[in-house]
Amino acid sequence: MKKLPAINATVLLKKIKPKLIQMEPFSNYLLIAPCGMNCGICMAYLRERNKCPGCRDFSTDKAKTRLACKIKNCAKTVNGFCYECEDFPCKKLAQLDKRYRTKYSMSMIENQLTIKNTGMERFLESEKAKWTCMRCAGTMNVHKKICSKCGEKQ
Ligand SMILES: [Zn+2]
Repeated sequence: MKKLPAINATVLLKKIKPKLIQMEPFSNYLLIAPCGMNCGICMAYLRERNKCPGCRDFSTDKAKTRLACKIKNCAKTVNGFCYECEDFPCKKLAQLDKRYRTKYSMSMIENQLTIKNTGMERFLESEKAKWTCMRCAGTMNVHKKICSKCGEKQ
């Protein structure tokens, strides 16, 4: 499959050395992991202590969650997304996707297809609409199903 020229996380990371931890949620595609997960709504990213900087932040070793992830560490996805791979969706991604669809009502594969079909900008807009707290405009925590700021239930 064709590579998206706009999505080369490695080059960008070298250029801007971002601290993804400090980024506005839903503003940057570097918070979208190769599997299609939005790191911005992950409990590991949203928590106060021992924060994970997101799957595409290579500037630190603190990202404990993602270190063990075989998809994140798959050589084929380093600069892009799984959908660019000939094996998409591979067994590992399908398993992860199934777990998230069942437990968290979210699909990494669907996310990736939205990115592929409508573009990253539209995807980030839809994510913002989907995961912004109606009460305080904080970010919803996909794993805990509550707002990370005010605790409002999803
Ligand atoms: Zn809230």
